[in-house]
Amino acid sequence: MGLKPGNHEFRMDVDPEFFACFPESEIQSAQGILDIVLEYSVTTMTLRLSLDLTWKVPCGRCLEELSFPLQHEEQIAIRYGDETEYSDALWILGKNEFELDISQTIYEMAHVSRPTNRVHENESDCDPNMLGYTMNDSEVESKKQTDPRWDALKKL
Ligand SMILES: [Zn+2]
Repeated sequence: MGLKPGNHEFRMDVDPEFFACFPESEIQSAQGILDIVLEYSVTTMTLRLSLDLTWKVPCGRCLEELSFPLQHEEQIAIRYGDETEYSDALWILGKNEFELDISQTIYEMAHVSRPTNRVHENESDCDPNMLGYTMNDSEVESKKQTDPRWDALKKL
């Protein structure tokens, strides 16, 4: 890989364009940084990833835009082997492999750190005008799983 033994630090911007590469991504409007430390020696490598994003998503009750932090750390051991193989905490790199593809890992790190409740913490913080609409809707459609992006379109 042409790296000298030691720690190598990188910083990457992660923005909505990154998530646009994953059409199935629930996260779209997120922005922030990924810090990468590659601990490199002749025989072993360790990748430490630290993701720090801000995710903008409509409140599930009143549709006002909320920001949530998406923060996650991951450590991956990298070893050389005959064939390239990615698993959760250990990657085997084949002899002819010179690039690490971490985009899938970044995608997963962002998704595991999603908050479960994507609504205003206190219902009293919700937009009272919108609350009336969404509550009426939810009585009828409470069993239906709707994509919040379509909910946002309904109010247009
Ligand atoms: Zn709200």
